[in-house]
Amino acid sequence: MNDVRNSSELIARAFQPLPLGNIRPGGWLLNQLRIQADGLSGHLDEFWPDVAESGWIGGTAEGWERGPYWLDGIVPLAFLLDDENLKRKIQRWMDYILSHQQEDGWLGPIRDTSRGNIYQAYDPWPVFVTLKAMTQYQEATGDGRIILAMKKFFHKLDSLLDENPLFDWGRSRWADLVLSIHWLYDRIEESWLLDLAAKVHKQGYNWRRHFAEFRYKNKMKAEECNQTTHVVNNAMAIKQPGVWFRQSVDEDDRNAVFQIIETLDTYHGQATGLFTGDEHYAGKNPSQGTELCAVVEYMFSLETLVSILGEAQLTDRLERIAFNALPATLKPDMWAHQYDQQANQVICKVSKDRIYTNNGPDANIFGLEPHYGCCTANMHQGWPKFASHLWMRTSDGGLVAVAYAPCKVITEIAGKPIRIDLQTDYPFDDTLQFTVKADHPIRFPLHLRIPTWTEAAEVRIENDDPVSAKAGTFHCIKREWSGSTAVTLRLPMRVRAQKRYHNSVSIERGPLVYSLKIGEDWRLIRGEPPHGDWEVYPTTAWNYALQIDSDHPDESIKFETRPIGNCLFSPDSAPVLARVMGRCVPEWTLEHNAAGPLPKSPVSSSEPLEELVLIPYGCTNLRVTEFPTLG
Ligand SMILES: [Zn+2]
Repeated sequence: MNDVRNSSELIARAFQPLPLGNIRPGGWLLNQLRIQADGLSGHLDEFWPDVAESGWIGGTAEGWERGPYWLDGIVPLAFLLDDENLKRKIQRWMDYILSHQQEDGWLGPIRDTSRGNIYQAYDPWPVFVTLKAMTQYQEATGDGRIILAMKKFFHKLDSLLDENPLFDWGRSRWADLVLSIHWLYDRIEESWLLDLAAKVHKQGYNWRRHFAEFRYKNKMKAEECNQTTHVVNNAMAIKQPGVWFRQSVDEDDRNAVFQIIETLDTYHGQATGLFTGDEHYAGKNPSQGTELCAVVEYMFSLETLVSILGEAQLTDRLERIAFNALPATLKPDMWAHQYDQQANQVICKVSKDRIYTNNGPDANIFGLEPHYGCCTANMHQGWPKFASHLWMRTSDGGLVAVAYAPCKVITEIAGKPIRIDLQTDYPFDDTLQFTVKADHPIRFPLHLRIPTWTEAAEVRIENDDPVSAKAGTFHCIKREWSGSTAVTLRLPMRVRAQKRYHNSVSIERGPLVYSLKIGEDWRLIRGEPPHGDWEVYPTTAWNYALQIDSDHPDESIKFETRPIGNCLFSPDSAPVLARVMGRCVPEWTLEHNAAGPLPKSPVSSSEPLEELVLIPYGCTNLRVTEFPTLG
């Protein structure tokens, strides 16, 4: 077992992540990871130069962040699927990186600065990403080389930072480095590592102060943008005070996490739990974009934070992003992705006249590397890390289900094998069926997250009377487990209408956001499938206002469920449909090749009343999510 205890000098994590390999996906999640492995993730290294010929494995292409990004997602994907082909690919990368570590400890390429000094020879930033891949790989394999290589690298970094302090991306993204320093400290407990972490903290950008004195309350102008207003840096920064809390033990760090999330929601928030950035803060207008890198980095920040802080609301947010924003911005077969997604995304086309602050004309098409190739490399961590963080260990010697999707946990408690199967169609269904298997009788607490959005949640053990469970907490079951025990959790999902931009509404039920289903015409504009570039044009009207009583939306929306299909996150396979009445609003039209300014609600329309079909946001490629309402 590669399990690790919390070490003495760092504050204990509330929940300890399980080593990679202890959680095995099942049901729709297994299917989704298989789609991913059969799509771009499992094949990018075969044809995309910046990974195939990466400088990290001795090639002549990019030797900076792209190879490490891909590795950081493919490592968990390979071990979750137990896929021999993917594991071979990882092995080649790890062997090369480890066997080419410099004498002085540096990992990866050293930049050639002979033709000018725009770059420094040693840029720590891409190594932060490699370290995240290495720690996951070590947990899955126990490979003894990793800890030695990390130790050697951190010694080099320690002296390097005295001469060349953190700069650019590394200065903004330092929390990801501290995470790996703490990972190593938890295993070898050498105090110089905490001194190094303190040095990194001191040199890094102070995100806590950035949000305490937040100045960026509107869509940025291009000339105002800088590293601190960048969407991906912000998504990564959400974790910063939480990561540092383990070392600072300062309650203000803990509280800052929630203040950061609230600030981003207030000024730039979107219905999916994301915030806009195309590619800097872009305000609340649902036609503005959010970069895919920010989606997967926000998810990783939340996975990290729930482990350290143990707050249920953090994984409410994680599920909201994972089930809505993540799948929506990927082509259903996961061979193409967008750079920017929009909550109101009514056309995806190459547009010189565009709404984004800095992102280019092709930022919202589905392609191989629309706008810029960072997301092509970084998108792979989204689903696998979600899957590997579903369950964790608790400090009272038990296990906790922090987020939900069909899976198995195969682990040990006090040296005794434990297996938990979770069968469910959640988030498309409200019932979760756990089977806890213990060959030898053993007492341990089982904690189940009860989302903040549920009402009247119930837990039932075998055929006992159900017990009610409080929303926004972790419900604890303390008992002796023996043989096979069935635990059923019901999380009733009531439809809610959330007030949004210009007094519009978004429709939610459980962790899912619902969007108008729009007919799609996919047009290949470049490349050879499966990895081409597509524009998507609407074939049906999108400019509707809803006839809905926002206080009692259940009276005007009817839901219907369907069996879960093989390509779950696609418009035609949507497992839940919602029907609601609405009228067209003819004056709401395209502007700058996006849905024009959202008419302020209530609106009036003399167009005929029509029945509209909404589907989960994650199943859409074109959509309206924030709707005007009829007076
Ligand atoms: Zn990106």
